[in-house]
Amino acid sequence: MARDRFLQMRNNLHVIDNNSIPQNNTDRFIKVRPLYDSVRKRCLELKLEQILSVDEQIVPFRGKLEVKQYVKGKPQPWGVKIFMICGKSGLVYDFIIYQGATTNLDKNDVLKYGTSAAYVNALSMRINRSGHYLFFDNYFSNYVLLKDLREREIYAGGTIRINRFGKPPLITDKEGSKKDRGYTDQVTNNTKDVVVIKWIDNKGVVLASNFVGIGNQDEVRRWNKISKNYVTIPRPELVQLYNNGMGGVDKTDHLISLYRIFIRSKKWTLRMIFHAIDLALTNSWLEYQEDCKICNIPSTDVLDLLHFRQRVAEALIKMGHPIPSRKRGRPASGGSSPVNSPVTPKQHRFRTEIRPASEIQYDTVDHLPEYDQKKEATRCKNPGCKGKTHVYCLKCVIHLCFTGERNCFRKFHQKQE
Ligand SMILES: [Zn+2]
Ligand SMILES: [Zn+2]
Repeated sequence: MARDRFLQMRNNLHVIDNNSIPQNNTDRFIKVRPLYDSVRKRCLELKLEQILSVDEQIVPFRGKLEVKQYVKGKPQPWGVKIFMICGKSGLVYDFIIYQGATTNLDKNDVLKYGTSAAYVNALSMRINRSGHYLFFDNYFSNYVLLKDLREREIYAGGTIRINRFGKPPLITDKEGSKKDRGYTDQVTNNTKDVVVIKWIDNKGVVLASNFVGIGNQDEVRRWNKISKNYVTIPRPELVQLYNNGMGGVDKTDHLISLYRIFIRSKKWTLRMIFHAIDLALTNSWLEYQEDCKICNIPSTDVLDLLHFRQRVAEALIKMGHPIPSRKRGRPASGGSSPVNSPVTPKQHRFRTEIRPASEIQYDTVDHLPEYDQKKEATRCKNPGCKGKTHVYCLKCVIHLCFTGERNCFRKFHQKQE
């Protein structure tokens, strides 16, 4: 595709008809909403894993947009904020795009929990059976939320801000500094369903949960500055579980950042459109990896994220479409059959012949045979065939026998039941 054509198409890329936006619209993301709705629809269908977390994701964007946010600690802190519930695997199960006061949150929830915990409550509705673990950091956690999640048999916990827990009588930082490193102070409420702990690590770390506090401690190695050696200190069970359970969103973020669709544009709509695609691709790849494990596919045959993305792109470009005409100056229109303008054999180099994505292989569009004019015949790529041939498929660009005895060409393109 020519550059100018690409830019022209990109500048006119729309998800909805802007004329259809109602006057009283309050959804700031209405221009990309159908795309996010369809990504979310799939997220909601996924089977939940046991260990979950709620966190913020940032769609990096520094341009003009009212609801742009700054999130401390993110590699690219400016952008559109998305609250999400993720599995430990990095799979996204649900999300809410932040848009200030008009974010679609239950008003009663906001009154009951406060805004940030209301997000956790809204996202936790995705959890439809008991026995799941849900972790979140001190931005989200509060006392009422933990109690309510406990009633729904969701094991929840995370770091906290003391003032959202009625300032429990824990040891002060000063008192803590006199204790041995690894010491934990624990306070439980009188209904015994919320426990708050302060663990003296480098400094005091405060966490709360509705199911465990000190629990079964393990040991962690820490560098002792004074004695200049490693020491092992006890670590409460809640800290272990929290450290293990958080990080799902970070994993998703990391996977997206590896091959983020690069777009040098100041339009937030374009950023959001391509982020939705990146998000869908990452989630699909994680799903694909799970499927490969279940099907016992050897790890050498499992596509890495880059090749997976290439494969999806290739399939989307070729699937169901006729092979493009290589003649210049004449746009392919419905009237001209591509049969009349085949790719000349010289243009194909056949370096390595890779089987196309099955979406292309079986799409029954334009799989035309061509004779390669080469001196030597090439191995047939139909699985199980050891024949050699000069015939190849113009669309798949792989060699397939087509002789009186063998019609690998047809077999290859017909789905076996
Ligand atoms: Zn083909
Ligand atoms: Zn063959």
